[in-house]
Amino acid sequence: MTTRELAELDKAILWHPFTPMREWTAPAHEPLVLARGRGAWVWDRDGRAWLDGNSSIWTNIHGHGHPKLLAALREQAERVAHTSFLGFTNEPAIRLAAALVALCAPSALARVFYTDDGSTAIECALKMTVQFWQQSGRPQRREFLAFDHAYHGDTFGAASLGGIPLFHERFSRFGLPVRQVAGEASLEALSAEDIDRLAAVVIEPLIQGAAGMRRWPEGMLRRLRAWCDAHDVLLIFDEVMTGFGRTGTMFACQQEAVWPDFLCLAKGLTGGLLPLAATLTTGRVYDAFLGAPEEGKTFFYGHSYCGNPLACAVALASLEIFREENVLAALPPKIDHLRHELAALQARFPQHLHEIRQCGFIAGIEIQRGHMTRHGAPLTAAAVCLAAREFGLLTRPVMGETIVLMLPLCATEEDIAHAVSAVGQALEREITR
Ligand SMILES: *Cc1c(COP(=O)(O)O)cnc(C)c1O
Repeated sequence: MTTRELAELDKAILWHPFTPMREWTAPAHEPLVLARGRGAWVWDRDGRAWLDGNSSIWTNIHGHGHPKLLAALREQAERVAHTSFLGFTNEPAIRLAAALVALCAPSALARVFYTDDGSTAIECALKMTVQFWQQSGRPQRREFLAFDHAYHGDTFGAASLGGIPLFHERFSRFGLPVRQVAGEASLEALSAEDIDRLAAVVIEPLIQGAAGMRRWPEGMLRRLRAWCDAHDVLLIFDEVMTGFGRTGTMFACQQEAVWPDFLCLAKGLTGGLLPLAATLTTGRVYDAFLGAPEEGKTFFYGHSYCGNPLACAVALASLEIFREENVLAALPPKIDHLRHELAALQARFPQHLHEIRQCGFIAGIEIQRGHMTRHGAPLTAAAVCLAAREFGLLTRPVMGETIVLMLPLCATEEDIAHAVSAVGQALEREITR
């Protein structure tokens, strides 16, 4: 099939996530049919190359086609690709769990539950929380506290925590009891009765991703931990985006030396090769689920592909790459370089850029509203992202007119300069001066 025929077939039968399909299927829209990846770059079927500017929707860590990850995948596939984790176990899953717990030392996180993606990692933490309180003599603790603009995934439970009206409003009344608050100050306004109903506080540590790469105030995680401890409320960290080096440390919460009662990991866990997620929790939570089977304390929850050996083998290899290639130690100069490039970009477009926010190797470039493009349409982050394709960069915006730059950690200083330059060229082309 030609690329054109493939694209037409896609338009005829597919339904894409987070995609206005009338625009997607419009005759003028030519979907990119991506076919190949190496390092921080991807190619389409016709050989055109782009820098993977959002790490393939925030998943890729060591680049595409890393030989060690491919070898781990092949070796495990030769043995067995999938066996059940319900009543059986397997070596890659065991070794990965030990490695994840070791990464969190010293902390109380000591148990690992596998799921498939970020949403189910959260879903699992929510269900464990509810059942934990039921089995700890505090069944009234059934409400979750989440923050405005939060994004924790799209299953009903995870979406109930969501604070982005465009995504979440229509579903929120079907979901869990959730108290949505603006920030940490709102905690002080809660009454003793309010607090007594709280099961857990859920937060994306350091930075909210989908909300537009918005940073939390410094020290917030520490203060949240202290507040939760003082009121015996559990704390859930959603590190689905921030985990595995994105913010400069393995996990974002390490920057404030704070650990949660639940640590939810997904996107980067396998380096971006396969779907896999993990929910880590403490011995305190785990112990509440122990008892004779007839006591009914078992956690009756799981998915067909829990503990998938292929994904676990690849995740283990990804953690080995972190060690062997000193990935975290190589980040500070790249993060500095990114900061430097972004500052130059901001200086070049003082009117058209509202703000640039950076957290480690993650950047959000917010467009100033109210400007027009040379086509006479409002200047949007989406328009700039589309134009950036012509300058060799693939990415997409998040809420609040914010362009995401989140390169794989293997990106070189040259790649970083290329990415920022592509955004600059795209802006230059789109705007009318
Ligand atoms: C992407 C994301 C999720 C959801 O993960 P999926 O794998 O898409 O289900 C949850 N939380 C955060 C912070 C995310 O960025």
